[in-house]
Amino acid sequence: FDKIDGVIWYDGRLVPWADANVHVLTHGLHYASCVFEGERAYGGTVFKSTEHSERLKASANILDFEIPWSVAEIDAAKQFVIDKNNLPDAYLRPIAWRGSEMMGVSAPSNTIHLAIAAWDWPSYFDPAEKLKGIRMGMAEYRRPDPATTPAMAKASGLYMICTISKHKAERAGYADAMMLDWQGRVAECTGANIFFIKDGTIHTPIADCFLPGITRATAIDLARRRGIEVIERRIKPEELDGFTECFITGTAAEVTPVSEIANWKFTPGKICEQLMADYTAEVQPKGKAAAAA
Ligand code: PMP
Repeated sequence: FDKIDGVIWYDGRLVPWADANVHVLTHGLHYASCVFEGERAYGGTVFKSTEHSERLKASANILDFEIPWSVAEIDAAKQFVIDKNNLPDAYLRPIAWRGSEMMGVSAPSNTIHLAIAAWDWPSYFDPAEKLKGIRMGMAEYRRPDPATTPAMAKASGLYMICTISKHKAERAGYADAMMLDWQGRVAECTGANIFFIKDGTIHTPIADCFLPGITRATAIDLARRRGIEVIERRIKPEELDGFTECFITGTAAEVTPVSEIANWKFTPGKICEQLMADYTAEVQPKGKAAAAA
């Protein structure tokens, strides 16, 4: 990472960017005992901060460790990082992991660390440009059976297949890859959830073997507030022929229309456009949005 200025919150202290290091014998590095979050601040306020802090704590618990900071303390630390670095529009990366005291699969008393980094990430985009949609390929790996992995944790180890799949898609000229689940049904993308539209209704896979995104919940809520029906159900890939619009959601992607998945074509239309606009309005800090209205 070539950013070298600014400070990172590291176990309760602010350390210079370049000094926020870990030991090579870190358990999290060897055995993936590591969980993280991806969040965004808009206008100096972290969007859905508490939901992300709660998910981080829950992910750690699923991996059998406890982050020694409360949700309120993590929320405050994130805000502190944004303020100290003067980053009103930023991406935040909180990460928690088992430390390096004991080397071996079992290391129940290793210190649990927490770090929070943030960097500038403005979200201004040209809606017309974004409405052209991104092109996606098919991932070579499937989301694993939740009986074989802690699927509900935002755990580093689960990203191995995402990185491999995304690299392969990018080499083929695509922006991302759609992943199927362990039973061959549509699941999500390598870092975002997926939605399809047919006859004015939104369809999205049931999030039982992949991360139910905070943006996914926001998009479902925004659609329902507009009176659009949202159905969570099993979606087979061959059904993609019948959908007219497609979009993905995630903290980084926000609401991003899709024009193509392998041989399936979509034309981003009114619902994509409305949800993009609604999402942009929703992420504004509430006080400021109200003041501007
Ligand atoms: N799925 C995966 C695999 C992800 O990495 C992300 C991004 N965190 C999401 C879905 C979307 O989650 P969220 O909306 O909470 O960012």
